[in-house]
Amino acid sequence: MKYFYIISPLLFIAFSCVPKPPQPETTPSPPIRVLLNETDQRDSLFFSGTYSLIAEEARYDFGRKNNKIYFRPLKRGFKIFNENRIFVFTSSDIIDFKPKDPESYFIYEGKKHTGKLTFYISNKNSVAVMNTLPLEEYIKCVVPAEMPSKERDNLEAVKAQAICARTYALGRMRMRKDEAFDVYDDVRDQVYKGFEYRTEYGDLAVNKTRGDVLMKGKNLALTYYHSTCGGVLEDTIGTKKGKEDLEDKKTIRKDIIGDQFACSISPRYRWTRRFTLRQLDSLFAARGKPSLYAKNPSDTVDIEMSVFIAKRKPTGRVERLGIRYGDQVLWLENYDIRKFLSTSGEGPLLSNLFLAHVENDTMLVLEGGGYGHGAGMCQWGALYMSKKGFKYYDILVNKYYPGTYLKKVY
Ligand SMILES: [Zn+2]
Repeated sequence: MKYFYIISPLLFIAFSCVPKPPQPETTPSPPIRVLLNETDQRDSLFFSGTYSLIAEEARYDFGRKNNKIYFRPLKRGFKIFNENRIFVFTSSDIIDFKPKDPESYFIYEGKKHTGKLTFYISNKNSVAVMNTLPLEEYIKCVVPAEMPSKERDNLEAVKAQAICARTYALGRMRMRKDEAFDVYDDVRDQVYKGFEYRTEYGDLAVNKTRGDVLMKGKNLALTYYHSTCGGVLEDTIGTKKGKEDLEDKKTIRKDIIGDQFACSISPRYRWTRRFTLRQLDSLFAARGKPSLYAKNPSDTVDIEMSVFIAKRKPTGRVERLGIRYGDQVLWLENYDIRKFLSTSGEGPLLSNLFLAHVENDTMLVLEGGGYGHGAGMCQWGALYMSKKGFKYYDILVNKYYPGTYLKKVY
C-alpha cells in the first residue's frame, strides 16, 4: 500500500543530529507489536540508556559500557550474548528487554526504536526481533513516510493519513491477536523506520486525531489509499467481495473539487512511457519467451509489434492487455500489466489508467494518468483539499470513503 516516497533528505539530517526519543504519552494507547526482522544469522543491536532483560532467575541491565548484544539461533533455541554474559534460551522462550525510562531506546539496523524489545524463535527457526510500543507512537512514526508532513497547509491531509494508518493498524491488531506479532515493519503492512522520521506536523496530526478510526457499519473500514488517481477513483471501500463492484454503478466517481481535478497537482497526474523493440524484447525474454534479437540480431525491421486493449473497467483502467511481438502474443491482466511493463529506472508501470499505441511500427507508447490502484483515498487529491481549506473529515468521509463515519475508540 505504499505509493508515497517523499522523505526529505534535509529532514533526515536534521533529525539524525538530534537523537532524542519522543516524550511519552500521558495516557497510553494500546500496544502494537511490530516485527522488525527474522534472522537465521548472528546479528546485533545497541542500547542507548538502560534496557533490562527480565529472565526467570534475575534481571540484567544493559547500557553504558555494556550496551551491545549479539543474538543468533541455535539448533534448539537461541542465544543472546556479549563479552560479559551469555544467555541461552529454548525455542519456546519469549524474552523481553524493557526500557528503564522513556528516554531509553535501542538501535537496530540503523533505526532507533523506543518501547519494548522482544526476542523469540519464529516458525522459520529464526530469531524474531520485535518492538512493542503504544499505537499512537507507532502512527507518528509511519505517517510521515506516507504523506509529506513538513508544510502546515498539508496538515488536514496528514490527519486523514493518520486516521487511515490507525484504522489499518488496529484492524491488523484485531486480526492477528492470537499470533506472535501484529504488523511487519515494511510494505507488507506499513513502513516503520523508528522515531527519527517523526515530524512536527506528523505528531500534531496524530495528537489531534488521537484514537479516531474510520468505520463502515459495525466494522473498521478498509482504508485503501494510493498516490494519484489521475482523475477517476475506483470504488472498493466496503465491498464485501473484496473485488471491484463497479458494474452495478451508474456513475463513475471523479476526483473533482470545484472545477478542477484534485490530484492534477501531482507530478504523476499524467505521464508517458515508451518501450523500444529492444526493450520489449528483453521484457519478453524475462518472461521466458524467446528473444527475437538473439535469433536474428541484424534484421529486426520486420518484427511486428502491436498492442490491444481487450478489457477496461468502467473507470477506464485496463484489465486485460495483449501485446503482439513478432509471432508471439502475450496476454496480461490487472496488476500483472504494470509488473510486466517495468523499467529498471522507474519500476512497474505507474497505473492501469492509460491509452496505448505503436508508433512507427517500432515504439510502444503508453500515455497514462495517476500512480497506484485508484481505490480509496487519493493522497495528492487529499493534499490539494487540505491546501484548499477542507478538513480531514471532508477528505475521508465526504470524499474518498463514502458511507463511512469517524469513531473515537480510545
Ligand atoms: Zn486523485
